[in-house]
Amino acid sequence: MRVVRTIAEAREELAPRRADTIGLVPTMGALHDGHLALLRAARDADETVVMSLFVNPTQFGDDADLARYPRDEDRDLARAHECGVDLVFAPSADEMYPPGFQTWVDVTEVGSILEGQLRPGHFRGVATVVLKLLAIVRPTTVYFGQKDAQQVEVIRTMIRDLALDVELRVVPTVRDVDGLALSSRNALLSPEEHATALGLPRALATHDRDAALRALRKSNGLEIDYVEVADFDPPALVGAVRVGSTRLIDNVVLEGEE
Ligand code: AMP
Repeated sequence: MRVVRTIAEAREELAPRRADTIGLVPTMGALHDGHLALLRAARDADETVVMSLFVNPTQFGDDADLARYPRDEDRDLARAHECGVDLVFAPSADEMYPPGFQTWVDVTEVGSILEGQLRPGHFRGVATVVLKLLAIVRPTTVYFGQKDAQQVEVIRTMIRDLALDVELRVVPTVRDVDGLALSSRNALLSPEEHATALGLPRALATHDRDAALRALRKSNGLEIDYVEVADFDPPALVGAVRVGSTRLIDNVVLEGEE
């Protein structure tokens, strides 16, 4: 497994592999079994597997949230290696956003509701960095997790609107044995907060917005940001809550239930 830090090195490494199918798995590190499911899906399907590891500053609303995001590159590289990743692209913020950077991708409608409304600019940061990663790696397939259903919808819309020549594959949400969707942010929860956070998947498991809201309102120590049926492809019951200072999102697909 090769690890490169610059765009020029990534392009140089990939030049002899252009005849291969190339799978790209974008991540912000702090890898858990959810990320590994994406890496394994890519390993199964593609001749070359590239993982990007970049905590993208432009998708964070405030510096404190960015500063507390969990980071452990050595462990991430070991896990990527175990999954058979060929190339890790782990650029610095300056490499991705050099001085004078001023070009942004704004998926105006789907990027401004739900998460986009509560975290203004979040999806602008996501779409911009993903487009840049696609331009650098030029994968045949890019892999995203259903866990971030709105992110998938934003990327799908960007790919369609800009006629990007890449296939999008969505991997089902990987959960803890107790049902909590795996997230790098789960590491920030105390054991008590973890128990409280279980209210979110339990509520969404009703597959019913009003029943989910009723269940969540009974949970102590959990603030509801939203629970909505989202008109995504496929439709999903999406929810976001805050437990202590940690924000959690989750969703269940509603396909075939209409
Ligand atoms: P992140 O590092 O949080 O940006 O996530 C990188 C990718 O992993 C995104 O496509 C996420 O949707 C995906 N992902 C995160 N958590 C999970 C999970 N529990 N199950 C499946 N995919 C996930």
